[in-house]
Amino acid sequence: MSGNNVRLQAISDVEAYVPPTVSFDHSEAPGEIFGENVFSKVVMQKRLPKSVYKSVIATIEHGEKLDPLVADAVASAMKDWALEKGATHYAHVFYPLTGLTAEKHDSFFEPNGDGTALAEFAGKTLVQGEPDASSFPNGGLRNTFEARGYTGWDVTSPAYVLENPNGNTLCIPTVFVSMTGEALDHKTPLLRSQQAMGEHATRILELFGHKDLNNVVAFCGPEQEYFLVDRHFFLARPDLLNAGRTLFGAKPPKGQEFDDHYFGAIPERVLGFMMDTERELFKLGIPAKTRHNEVAPGQFEIAPMFERGNVASDHQQQLMTTFKSVAKKHGMEILFHEKPFQGVNGSGKHVNFSLGNNELGSLFVPGDNPHDNAQFLVFCAATIRAVHKFGGLLRASVASASNDHRLGANEAPPAIISIFLGDQLADIFDQIATSSLSSSKSRGSMHIGVDTLPVLPTDPGDRNRTSPFAFTGNRFEFRAPGSLQTVAAPMVTINTIMADSLDYIATKLEASVASGTDFDEAVQALLTEIITEHGAVVFNGDGYSDAWPIEAEKRGLKNLKTTLDALPELITEEAMDLFERYGVFNHREMHSRYEIGLEQYARTIEVEARLTLEMGATIILPAAVRYQTELAINIGALTAAGVDADSTALDEVSAPIGALRSALATLRAAVAGDAGETALAEAEHAQGVLLPAMSDVRAAADALEEIVADDLWPLPTYQEMLFIL
Ligand code: ADP
Ligand code: MG
Repeated sequence: MSGNNVRLQAISDVEAYVPPTVSFDHSEAPGEIFGENVFSKVVMQKRLPKSVYKSVIATIEHGEKLDPLVADAVASAMKDWALEKGATHYAHVFYPLTGLTAEKHDSFFEPNGDGTALAEFAGKTLVQGEPDASSFPNGGLRNTFEARGYTGWDVTSPAYVLENPNGNTLCIPTVFVSMTGEALDHKTPLLRSQQAMGEHATRILELFGHKDLNNVVAFCGPEQEYFLVDRHFFLARPDLLNAGRTLFGAKPPKGQEFDDHYFGAIPERVLGFMMDTERELFKLGIPAKTRHNEVAPGQFEIAPMFERGNVASDHQQQLMTTFKSVAKKHGMEILFHEKPFQGVNGSGKHVNFSLGNNELGSLFVPGDNPHDNAQFLVFCAATIRAVHKFGGLLRASVASASNDHRLGANEAPPAIISIFLGDQLADIFDQIATSSLSSSKSRGSMHIGVDTLPVLPTDPGDRNRTSPFAFTGNRFEFRAPGSLQTVAAPMVTINTIMADSLDYIATKLEASVASGTDFDEAVQALLTEIITEHGAVVFNGDGYSDAWPIEAEKRGLKNLKTTLDALPELITEEAMDLFERYGVFNHREMHSRYEIGLEQYARTIEVEARLTLEMGATIILPAAVRYQTELAINIGALTAAGVDADSTALDEVSAPIGALRSALATLRAAVAGDAGETALAEAEHAQGVLLPAMSDVRAAADALEEIVADDLWPLPTYQEMLFIL
């Protein structure tokens, strides 16, 4: 019987598997290959006429419009470079709202009429493409536009050559919009929001005396957590294969977390994988920095160096694609799901955020004089106000069916969005709050810009891991995003709510200055006002404690526990006006994102429900029944032989088999049942009916896993998947 056992087969396959040895050229310095496949500024400087190069840089650094003649020159140089790198095709790469990466490939070569072909690549082709948009989610935007969508080159994100054993491709990062110009992707709003945020940050910097500033941009450093499992196990688990997470699996027995016999081989194999990925990422100019994460077995993390937000976002997507293919090469599968294993720590993608530019660095770094410190405090205050006013939107930006398993589960920050400042910075804002202009000289109060500020924290030693939005010395770290998500959605929200706060502050300060108020006094008054009105969002305590949700409610902070609680935040009047005011989304675009959020939520859970049903009925129930039959036959044989047979084991397996059958029947009815017509009804059905029915099936199945004879159990167990690499 066990000859057909997929799990036992997988275990012996894993044991027989020899991972590939990666042969590195040890004489090759990492620096040599860094950016090798990128059409970088350095490459452009070498290959473009001076005036063309200057014009492209002006577009990148100052946001100036790209001249069509310049586009032609760039396209021609880019094509020559790509052909030298062995590229035969070019692709406009875009980021549709599925959260995945999409590419439309075209050949460089066009027939010449005389039987030969000529490599062609005009500026027009570089700048704009026209993929069919009908197969991508659009949340109702398609009703009014034809199937065609447009892609447009994001000049600020460099083109690169993607290697493949079957031929290389020049990849051009692009936006993806409808015929009417509405965003169908994640990049378009990211660029729009960055522009808005930069514009208002610049107004403030000008008030602080800065002149001739380069674009102020958002910086993003994403930390990616992931699991690795052996591919043999992965392929023996239809749930991992189709849903990216296990829908069944009893917790490994206590005290047996480490199995030394298997454990010995882990580091070498994973290290081989990591070295291989790093090499690929370096070639693409992605500044990778890898390290082992110790939280869960089989779980690791990579954190590339921070970069300009839209470049970091593109690189993050490339990183995920690269990891997937390199893992396969090493006989493993990478799991980006937020919660692949119930009861085991899940994965997040911390988004480290700051704003600034190459001249100024991060604006979240305190200065060494009162003037610079005042500027630093203004940008911090803007963040406090933004997070307080729009915490619900931040929560909505990371809402998904898979991230729901993680947020608030005491392994990731709670769904309540608060801000952590660290003791020192919190203390400074406390003092600002208690000082009014008239009493600013009193003890314990502080008058910024006039009095000398205490030395401001440069590195707050205490890292509060329980806070969803934490100040970490030179940046804020948003810890709620899930490992599977794009960083673009949270970055869009952060940029836009920051634009709103910076606009508010700039407008007030400009008016004060115009009316003759002393600038320092005006800044002081504004900081006091902001911390008084928005200080409720500052929380330095333990976000995992039971007291926090109660306290947060008293403070009026939202606790949006699930995706369905969070998504409506996108379509409040306030949110829609905010995004429209800063030119990021119009109302239709907001509605479309809301609809797509609901659709994706419902689709994810529907697939999981069908898988649960299928696996429960065709894999787990048959295994349990085989064991039950074996026991029954055994009892029959013993009784026939006149031996007293104990039927306890039979009773023990029969009870959960009964429970499994009935739970499967309920789930079958739920899956077949009417989920309603609208996206909202479907999502509510998924949450209210499918999820609980799946959970009942799982409970019965997991109970059986602990009873059924090991040689009959058909699915690789948690212990095997997590500890055998
Ligand atoms: P930790 O896990 O302790 O939070 P890591 O070193 O893993 O720290 O990751 C920190 C991330 O923050 C890296 O991606 C890093 O590049 C990024 N980062 C550092 N400084 C800034 C900054 N000023 N703006 C944005 N991101 C930053
Ligand atoms: Mg971190």
